[in-house]
Formats: sequence, C-alpha cells, structure tokens
Amino acid sequence: MKKVILCKYGEIILKGQNKSKFESMLLKEVRRRADAVGDFKVTYAQSTVKIEPRGDASDGELDEMLDQAKKVFGFAGVTVAAVAEKNMDDILRVAGEYLPSKLEGVKTFKCTAKRSDKAFPLTSPEISAEVGGKILSCVPGIKVDLHTPQVEVRVEVRDSEAYIHAGQEKGAGGNPPGSSGRGLLLLSGGIDSPVAGYMMAKRGMFIDALHFESFPYTSELAREKVFTLAKELTEYTGRIRVHVISLTHIQEVLRDNCDEDYFTLLLRRFMMELAVRVAREFEIPAIITGESLGQVASQTLPALCVTDPVADRPVFRPCIGMDKDEIVAVARKIGTFDTSVLPYEDCCTVFTPRHPRTSPVLEKVVAQEAKVDREALLEDAWATRYSVLFKQFED
Ligand code: ATP
Ligand code: MG
Repeated sequence: MKKVILCKYGEIILKGQNKSKFESMLLKEVRRRADAVGDFKVTYAQSTVKIEPRGDASDGELDEMLDQAKKVFGFAGVTVAAVAEKNMDDILRVAGEYLPSKLEGVKTFKCTAKRSDKAFPLTSPEISAEVGGKILSCVPGIKVDLHTPQVEVRVEVRDSEAYIHAGQEKGAGGNPPGSSGRGLLLLSGGIDSPVAGYMMAKRGMFIDALHFESFPYTSELAREKVFTLAKELTEYTGRIRVHVISLTHIQEVLRDNCDEDYFTLLLRRFMMELAVRVAREFEIPAIITGESLGQVASQTLPALCVTDPVADRPVFRPCIGMDKDEIVAVARKIGTFDTSVLPYEDCCTVFTPRHPRTSPVLEKVVAQEAKVDREALLEDAWATRYSVLFKQFED
C-alpha cells in the first residue's frame, strides 16, 4: 500500500496575489527537510503539499518525515495518508487495508469526504457513507459519533488519486521561513529569549542571534549552553548564525564610573546599541528580545523607554504580554526548557545593582552615560565579535 504525507496550508490560503511566493518558500523548506530524511518527491496542489517516497519508504522513515513536516511553519495540519485509485472499489479496498490498524482501540469515529473532482460519480456524503460502512464492518466494536468522535477519518478525492487518512495532526502554524524577512535575536541563556526567537521564526522570520558574554565573570559553560539553545532552535529555523560579543570591559568601566543603581539600564543601552551595529552590518531589519513587561526591573515600561531610543529599527518583543508560566509552556513544547534551566550565569547578573532603578528618567540615564567614553567602549566591544553557524542538518 502506497503512503504519502499531506500537509495542509495554514494562513497562506488567505494570501492573494503573493500566494505563489509563499508557496515556493514553503516548498523549499519542505524539500530541505525531505532531502535530509530520505528520497522524497515534494509537490503541491490545491492548498496541500504532498510528500511522496520515491521508493519503498519504511514506516520509520515516513514517521521521521512526518515529525519534520510538523515543524514547518506555514501548515495548519499534517497527516500520513494511504493512496487509492480514483474509483470506489479501490477506495474501499485501501480503507479496509489501511484503517483497521490506525483505528485499533478507537471507540468512536466520523468519516468525512471531500471531492475536488466534481465529475466523480459519488457525492461526498455518499463516499463518507460507503467508507463509514466499510470501517464498521472491519473494525470490531467501533461506533459512529458525528459530534465528538475520537478520530475523524477523511477521504479526499483529488485530481489524479484519492487519499484516506485518520487523525490529522496540528501543523506548526505561522508563515513560511523567510516570508517575513530577518530578525536579530538577543539570545541569553534564559527561558524567554529562545521562546521569543521561536515565535518570530513562526511568523516567517529567518533568525540570526547575538549573545553577550562577560568572561571571566561568565563561563565557558554559559556560552556552551547558549550554543546548545541555538542548535535546539535550528529544529525550527534550519540554521542560526550566533554572533558573540564580550561586555567585560564595558561592565568594568560602568562599575568603576557610574552610580550602581543605573548599571543594568546603562548595560542594556550598550547591548541594544551593539545589536543595532550587528543588525546594520548584516542587513537585518529588526531586533528581537525575550522581554516581558514588568518581569524584572529592566523590563518596566520606563526602563524599556530608556532602552528603545538607541535602536534605529523595530524591536520585537513577542513575550511582552505573556506570563512566565505561559512562556515556560512554550519553552517545554519547543524543547528548550531543560537547557535554559541549567544553572549558568548570564552577563546581566554580573555586578547586579542592589536597588536597580525601576522608573528611570532618560535625561538622568544619559547623564550617567556621559561619565564614560561611550564610543570607545562600543569600539572595544565590537572588536571582540566573532560568530558561529549552527545548522539543523550537516551538509
Ligand atoms: P531570558 O534570559 O530567558 O530571556 P530573563 O528574564 O533572564 O529572560 P533578562 O535577563 O532581563 O531576561 O533579559 C531580557 C532580554 O534581554 C532577554 O530575553 C534577551 O533577549 C536579552 N538578553 C539578556 N541577556 C542577554 C545576553 N547575555 N545576550 C544576549 N541577549 C541577552
Ligand atoms: Mg536572562
């Protein structure tokens, strides 16, 4: 029995004249993943991408491909489907062969049919009734429940063949990779920033990352942890270049010259300014952070108001309206949580003020900043920059 994977478009369905541009991005992403898993042919028609093994794919290979398809942004649903010829005899034969094992232990089902080929001799309700009858006769104990079925069986009669599947899974949602341009993610080792990167990648952004370290106050292990998080994010983004800049000198100079209450705010303005430099150098139009309103002193509204003016481009903060437990739930779902909670320090916790300002006034922050040679510090930090590329699959 021949099986394929069907991936149903999400929001792309709503696109107008741009639709084909989105489709080609989606296809490119599916092909990138399919080529890494095995020998698959990837095509699309009628708001569905079909992934078809060229030879005899094992069930394991198909499952692996399904897992990959579930991570492609742009799909609302994905499923393995059995392929039948476009006639009722063959549809019933394949249903009888494929469905009993899929429905093992299932108590209730509903069958729906859709035919895009209106010349097919049976109507959709007639197809559902026949396949439903077949299921009742070959799956012991199963019953029909039209309102709250445990599993929905679908029959799709399309242009050249028919497909039968049971239990379509949720796709990753969002927009295809690259359809929303690029963003520079400020990636710490915490829980929030990987989630922020995932959320913007989901909306169609390619992600670059920028990590600040403060060696020897932060350790080799802290850097490795951030690299691990970047690698984990490539499961969704495909690749991530991580830029690393040292803040050690800036932090020491701030400690020696400025009022302690302002350390964190001053540091965050330096971080933002360096982020803008990286973004400019690599032509990245937006910056992304994992900030959440009011989570810590540097994330109050007045604090954000003194950091933002140094940015010359949009700063996306997708976690801004989320509670910590909501961010944690996403971190667990995408698989970054366990790495994020490893106990290594971040540069933001080096020389932390005892009483950080929570309602800073921009003029006072700027006056504190005037106590140091800002340009020279930025140049020094810039000179420490290096980058590492992480890929989901090796070439
Ligand atoms: P998390 O670290 O998980 O993002 P947090 O609550 O620890 O959450 P902060 O340390 O206040 O947050 O940092 C807020 C945001 O600033 C982070 O989400 C991240 O985008 C950025 N940031 C903080 N530290 C660093 C760092 N060392 N390198 C790059 N960006 C950082
Ligand atoms: Mg942090």
